[in-house]
Amino acid sequence: MRQPLVAGNWKMNGSRASVAELLNGLKAGMARVKTAEVAVCAPAVFIPAVQAELAGTPIKWGGQDVSVHASGAYTGEISGPMLADFACHYVIIGHSERRAYHAESDELVANKFSAARAAGLVPILCVGETLDEREAGVTEEVVGRQLDAVVAHCGIDVVGEGVIAYEPVWAIGTGKTATPEQAQEVHAFIRARLAAASRSVADTVRVLYGGSMNPNNAAELMLQDDIDGGLIGGASLKATDFLAVCSAANR
Ligand code: PEP
Repeated sequence: MRQPLVAGNWKMNGSRASVAELLNGLKAGMARVKTAEVAVCAPAVFIPAVQAELAGTPIKWGGQDVSVHASGAYTGEISGPMLADFACHYVIIGHSERRAYHAESDELVANKFSAARAAGLVPILCVGETLDEREAGVTEEVVGRQLDAVVAHCGIDVVGEGVIAYEPVWAIGTGKTATPEQAQEVHAFIRARLAAASRSVADTVRVLYGGSMNPNNAAELMLQDDIDGGLIGGASLKATDFLAVCSAANR
């Protein structure tokens, strides 16, 4: 039985005031969330405030990216040990915005996955195809390649210590959601791909859906056999919306 996980990706949004308001709203409304594990992945500068507010609550927190290096002359980077020092549980790895705007290759993403594990963080590995790739019929080829790179570098058992997020690039921040059937098809593919290396990892690893998930579509998506929760961008910035998505996993 895989416990659903709903993780918010705040991206580069917020201020000290809005973060305080959002966290207060989340804490106040958590009683309605019965089943899902809940996490927020915050911009690095807000992580100390997130830790101060969420310590002792059931809500976990994490970063949005991690350096492949543990420390040193890498201006602007944030390391795994630094995130761990602020009690981060999760870190997002290979988000499509980083792959696209920071030219992150499959190889770099795989290195980040192992750097996160070395620091004791749980990586949330994002995979997904662009609209052009979907229309060209190469969704499975792309997602398979992105997964295989991490399995080859880290080993299947280490991959099993993380979380996978299927995020079709064409659905991120666009208001276009994959239909439950489209999402389930790729989630099942991801599980089958992992099963080729390890049946037990395939059965236990959580595969989240991400891409314009919101209070209106979350329940139907989460009812699919291979969808174990969501990675939520826009709808994670408002406490009522995020809590509604989290409680859509109630069973
Ligand atoms: C994301 O950034 O991971 C995401 C899924 O964004 P949105 O929910 O806004 O599409």
